[in-house]
Amino acid sequence: MSKMPALFVGHGSPMNTFESNRYTRAWRTLGEALPRPKAILSISAHWYFGTSAVTAMEQPRTIHDFYGFPQQLFDYQYPAPGAPDIAALISETAKPFWVGLDRDQWGLDHGTWSVLAHMYPDADVPVLQLSLNGLRPLDYHVQLGAQLAGLRDQGVLVMGTGNVVHNLSTMQRELADHGHDWGIRFDRAVLERLESDPGRILEVQSHPDYALAVPTPDHFIPMLYIAGMAAAEGSSLSSFSEGHALGAVSMTSYGLGLDDAVLAQLRADEAVQGA
Ligand code: ZN
Repeated sequence: MSKMPALFVGHGSPMNTFESNRYTRAWRTLGEALPRPKAILSISAHWYFGTSAVTAMEQPRTIHDFYGFPQQLFDYQYPAPGAPDIAALISETAKPFWVGLDRDQWGLDHGTWSVLAHMYPDADVPVLQLSLNGLRPLDYHVQLGAQLAGLRDQGVLVMGTGNVVHNLSTMQRELADHGHDWGIRFDRAVLERLESDPGRILEVQSHPDYALAVPTPDHFIPMLYIAGMAAAEGSSLSSFSEGHALGAVSMTSYGLGLDDAVLAQLRADEAVQGA
């Protein structure tokens, strides 16, 4: 079995589910180019919870955890199966960290399905979600990510899904495809750290733009898992999409263990799309 890459994806608006833009095209390219995973473990910003848990049901439901969007989005279903055996493997791999099995609470939220709608449109790969334990300090998530690095050898595609910069109170429609200066600076600082020394990612908390870029930790934390996985094996991340939306959100996305041909394809797509 080939070692699976791991990803952090900037997911942005739930409407990306139906759109075709340079980010969603990168997600499609990934789905076509990556080795086919046995299962996907999605670590979504939208399951910010009081403990660490992994979905363990046979058939996770599609969760619509937003309001003010078109009916089409509330009607959307992503019927991927779960994988209780993989949930048990994840809980075991996480030890000594405790990860509980969620048999009937969560399911798949839009942090997961807005991306997988493009990566695996047939919803035929089993998908699980890991919650973000909001009661723990940020370092916990880096450490738990490191502990989960072994899942790459088990055919599990680990995907963090959030946004490194996410401050919706500063959204400006006229900045459709642009970032605020502070968001661009902070996103760049994170990129430099992830591409050089991801084990030290938490030092970005002292960056002068941190408070504006990360007013709440939910969209930031999923990236910490992938940073921890990279640090565990002395590796680093490579960005494959870079950009900002509505001033307030960074769409920058990263891969761990992506092979050079896939990275070259993603960057060529982006260059063509950006032209
Ligand atoms: Zn989100």
